[in-house]
Amino acid sequence: MKPLHLNTPLLRAAPGLFPQAEVWLKMDALQPSSSFKLRGVGRLVQQAAADGAREIVCASGGNAGLAAVFAARSLGLPVTIVLPNSSSTAVAETIAVRGASVLRHGAVWDEAHLFAVQLAAERGAAYVHPFDHPLLWDGHATLIDEVVATGLEFDAVITAVGGGGLFAGIVQGLRRNGLEQVPVIAVETLGADSLSQSLAAGEAVTLPAITSIATSLGARRVADEALRLAQSHPTVSLTVSDSDATQACVRFADAMRVMVEPACGAALAALSVHEAQLARFKRPLIEVCGGIAVSTASLATWTIHA
Ligand SMILES: *Cc1c(COP(=O)(O)O)cnc(C)c1O
Repeated sequence: MKPLHLNTPLLRAAPGLFPQAEVWLKMDALQPSSSFKLRGVGRLVQQAAADGAREIVCASGGNAGLAAVFAARSLGLPVTIVLPNSSSTAVAETIAVRGASVLRHGAVWDEAHLFAVQLAAERGAAYVHPFDHPLLWDGHATLIDEVVATGLEFDAVITAVGGGGLFAGIVQGLRRNGLEQVPVIAVETLGADSLSQSLAAGEAVTLPAITSIATSLGARRVADEALRLAQSHPTVSLTVSDSDATQACVRFADAMRVMVEPACGAALAALSVHEAQLARFKRPLIEVCGGIAVSTASLATWTIHA
């Protein structure tokens, strides 16, 4: 099966953008759905279609929802996105214009998610979980396959972590390419630091609330598999502030001329914010995960508040 995602460019970072002289960027902001999510979601939706699913259902007003719409429409399947009432009308419109039916249920994501899972079961539809499914991780792992295929030798992978699906995919990708010794730098913003708190506690921690601007990192609890992998694979768990993340988005836009949302800014901020701790890495690879929660207007606001 030909994947629905693109093999995105692997670029060397502009001089001076990071403390290290040689930093490599996997440009998943350039996926047709504007984030890496299409890798895993595309894999999951293709498999569901092959297994006879007649419809796709997803509870996400963000990048996972957008990827589900892109994947379903590419395969000619109807798609229903369930949004909690907390999602804005702008988000609902963004999704509807791309050809999805939009339903509203519940006050917050957890409620929309439970309703959507039940709806999918009733309709014989496939449910797309935003971060917790083995096929998603298998799809996300392709980003490492693509980098390895170029012959680049990197000594760390830096990634943002929300529910941990991307992290799990990266670890899977490293392992299946014989790179199980390459550390992953797992970055969260304060206020969305469910992995960092879980590692410190030695067990899964459910955050009482998400208080970070990086809403795509706002899983109150990470997938169990992500925590398990973070405890078994060489992993450096780090946090940055919202301001670090938004400043990194501005600097990245200026240097690379590509816009990314604060969730991605978290990964971009790590090398500078934690410079001493990460100085030992001479050729790190950053997963530029992208995201739609950014505009020229938000970049302007983040610049003023620098
Ligand atoms: C979903 C998302 C993340 C976090 O991915 P998880 O698999 O939930 O850890 C990070 N950045 C962007 C832009 C996202 O859309």
